[in-house]
Order: sequence, then C-alpha cells, then structure tokens
Amino acid sequence: MTVARLGIDVDGVLADFGGAFRRVIEHTFPGRIPAQYIPDTWDWPNKFLTKKEVGTAWRVFNSKWNAWLYLRALPGVAELAQGMGGHDVWAITSRAQTQGMTAQAQTEEWLRQCQVDIPVITVPDSNQKAALVQAMELDGMLDDKGDTIVQIDGLHPALTRVKGLLLSQPWNAGVKVKRRVASVKEFFNAF
Ligand SMILES: [Mg+2]
Repeated sequence: MTVARLGIDVDGVLADFGGAFRRVIEHTFPGRIPAQYIPDTWDWPNKFLTKKEVGTAWRVFNSKWNAWLYLRALPGVAELAQGMGGHDVWAITSRAQTQGMTAQAQTEEWLRQCQVDIPVITVPDSNQKAALVQAMELDGMLDDKGDTIVQIDGLHPALTRVKGLLLSQPWNAGVKVKRRVASVKEFFNAF
C-alpha cells in the first residue's frame, strides 16, 4: 500500500466552529437569528447580520480565553481517532488568534484531548492553503470551505498531484468542485 500525504482542515471538519460562533451571535445580538440556525452560505448572510456585526461577533469570539479549546467535536474527529488508513496526516488550519494560548497550541491541545495525535500547521489566511498543499506535495486535502477546494482544483496538474476534496456541509452546498465527500472516513478511503 502506498502511504499518502494528506491534509485535513479543522473547523467545520473536525471541530464545530459554526456552533460556537452561533452561540456568540445569540449572546451578542439576542433574537436576531432563528434557533439552531446553520448558514447556507460561507460567512453569515446579510439577511440576519451586517458585515460589521459579523466583525463584532469575531472580536467577541477572539477575546475569549482559549476560545478554540472549547469547541465541540464533529463526528469526523472520532473517525480520525479510529485510524488514518496508514497515511501521514497534517491538520491545516487558518484559525485566528484569541486570548490565551496561541491558536496553534490550542489546536494541538484540543486534538490531543480528542485522542488525535497529528501535527498542526497554522496559516494566517485560508487563501494560502492551496500554495501550502502544493509545496508540501500532499496527495489530498479535505476542507469545508468551497473557495479553498476551488483554489486547489485550479492548481496546475504538472506542478501537483494533490486532490482537493470538499466535505459536504450546508454552507458549501452551492459550490462547484471536482470532488466531494460526506465524511472524514470517506476521505481516507479515497487514498
Ligand atoms: Mg474549515
């Protein structure tokens, strides 16, 4: 069996950032969004909050001490803990800094608490992920952000063999990409 080099995004794939951010919005702007609301586009639509208000919610989130440590686990993290198909796997995230430990250290600690022991790479901007996966000569990258997979799909095939896979989530349903999967397990099975 060939050992594949795989990257896996954290928020929206392993960690329930959307739920944590929704709770910040519910607390900061009470009554403005429907109960248990899940966005159907990337970022929050204007029908509920202005861009400025979303920015305010981000500042509230980032001001929380070790905010990334308190995210709930999505099913994908248990699938990851069960095994990675003998592949080499890196967690690749563009998390913002919060109060407390660095985003990198919080992500490493959170994964450890979920019984997942893989290296973490933090990039300052998710638009850098495509260049990173090319430079790392990865075989596959799993992400829930449509733009990231569209950018990976657009890399020149002569320069990379990486396959971008979009994890289907309500907020990326409208995005056109070459490959989608429904679970982390399906991602590992693709290599
Ligand atoms: Mg994500």
